[in-house]
Amino acid sequence: MAKNSPKAQYSSIVARISRQQLLDQHVAQLQRCRRCPRMESTPVSGGAIASDVMIIGQAPGPREPVLQRPFAHTAGKTLFRWFEEFCRINEAAVRSKIYFAAVCRCFPGKNSGGTDRVPAPDEIRNCASWMDNEIEILRPRLIIPVGRLAITQFIDCAKLEKVIGRKFRVERAGHRFDVIPLPHPSGASPWHKIAPGKALLGRALKLIARHSAVVAKAASES
Ligand code: SF4
Repeated sequence: MAKNSPKAQYSSIVARISRQQLLDQHVAQLQRCRRCPRMESTPVSGGAIASDVMIIGQAPGPREPVLQRPFAHTAGKTLFRWFEEFCRINEAAVRSKIYFAAVCRCFPGKNSGGTDRVPAPDEIRNCASWMDNEIEILRPRLIIPVGRLAITQFIDCAKLEKVIGRKFRVERAGHRFDVIPLPHPSGASPWHKIAPGKALLGRALKLIARHSAVVAKAASES
């Protein structure tokens, strides 16, 4: 069947509609998930954005469940500034064109030191099936894991210096895609502000800006 034939175009439209329906159902089910009793919020979702690019965070902080969107506070401000500066896509466009997932979708609460608790291995296992389902539905071309915990769901990351600024080919949930990791943009670590992190971050953002899946999104904005 020729790529631009009416039949091919019809098949493509049907595939897009069914992908959106599957994603709508998936997000509705995700929002009802209560598998992890130690979590202190219900799941936070960025919405059913049918995209071939996924951003994977660690877990929501205390503000995200209130504001009902991922990366809603200070770390998000930095992340969206990076995208605007290097990819020429503003926050509204990123949120409307890229699917947001996370290692865990609920706020884990604070630890005794007052910082956000890192999700426990059982919670990460519980939540992994949501991400697998998303990869099966969206069949992404590019996944951007943000921060070490998210990065290690796809590749080894003994040191950020070894992985930031590079592109990896990864298989998960029966699908192969590119992975370009980013450091976590929270102010908790200065890694991305000082050498060699600053230069490696710039290299990673340039790789993302040049990726064909992202170029298409930036072009549709201009
Ligand atoms: S962290 Fe994930 S698996 Fe656990 S309750 Fe929240 S959505 Fe469900």
